[in-house]
Amino acid sequence: MNDKKILLIYTGGTIGMVKDYASGALRAFNFDELLKNIPELNQLDCSIDTVSFQEPIDSSDMGTSDWVRIVEIIEAYYDSHDGFVVLHGSDTMSYTAAALSFLLENLSKPVILTGSQLPIGDLRTDAKENLITSIQIAALQERGRSVIREVGLYFEYKLYRGNRTTKINAEHFQAFASLNYPHLIESGVHLNVFKEYLLPHKKNRKPKFHKQMDENVAVLKIFPGLNQRALDGVLKTEGLRVLIVETYGSGNAPTADWFIDSIKMAIKNGLHVINVTQCSGGSVLMGQYETSTQLKKMQVISGKDITTEAAIAKAMYMLGSDVSDALFKTVFETELRGEMH
Ligand code: ASP
Repeated sequence: MNDKKILLIYTGGTIGMVKDYASGALRAFNFDELLKNIPELNQLDCSIDTVSFQEPIDSSDMGTSDWVRIVEIIEAYYDSHDGFVVLHGSDTMSYTAAALSFLLENLSKPVILTGSQLPIGDLRTDAKENLITSIQIAALQERGRSVIREVGLYFEYKLYRGNRTTKINAEHFQAFASLNYPHLIESGVHLNVFKEYLLPHKKNRKPKFHKQMDENVAVLKIFPGLNQRALDGVLKTEGLRVLIVETYGSGNAPTADWFIDSIKMAIKNGLHVINVTQCSGGSVLMGQYETSTQLKKMQVISGKDITTEAAIAKAMYMLGSDVSDALFKTVFETELRGEMH
């Protein structure tokens, strides 16, 4: 019985690409062909509708307006469908997953992003398993309710919380990691759901589809040899409202006067400065070392164990939601969608 209705949203990426034999480059192909390539989809216990971006894109071209487009599609089909699978290039999939997690508030249905390392037409493709299992996860229900009620990212036998992921490998099929949060589902002979890690269900909350993202955000990765001109160049960016500083280890940065004074002045002038670690795992803990004590004193915002991808999305979402300057630090340091601890 085809009782569950799943909407497949095709945005682009390797999963739907073919090789242009003249140039050797991969280019997007027609979405109808994607379904033709996987006749197995017809055997699934659900009906599948599809919506495609008019111009499927490589995910390097994804921007905030594309995120909003995905939100609008999900909003339009939210009541009529039980779950959503977003086919997306893997390069920026973690950013989109994080952005959607903030833009889609109070989800009671799954939104699963997936893609592949090899095109769907390739003999050794990872696309089929990723796509088929993502659809099964999107259709998964218990006592009439969706099991997953958040934005997830499915790749190579694991479902992760989307806003906890990072792309860590351009070669391996296991392209993603979620170093600060356990995966939510493991696909083996059975789909093993780790219920204790799912976002708790909020009763009687209506879904909200947010559509504003403010792009006045920049990221600065600290490195030995970073000089004042480079720092000042970033700080002088016109209209900049949030600077995410990727620091060392547990949130440590140079203690040189020019560095501390520039950041202090920028904060005084209204810039929100967020401390995230450039380590793949672990958390910012300002004050643990002398090299972060100053940052803590001048009210630098702690990103705790958030990924840089999620920090960017959260900052853009909060600026877009008009969170007041006075509340910005408190709200950023609060977990909104399971993105930090
Ligand atoms: N460049 C591709 C993209 O992100 C890679 C992929 O799909 O995996 O769109």
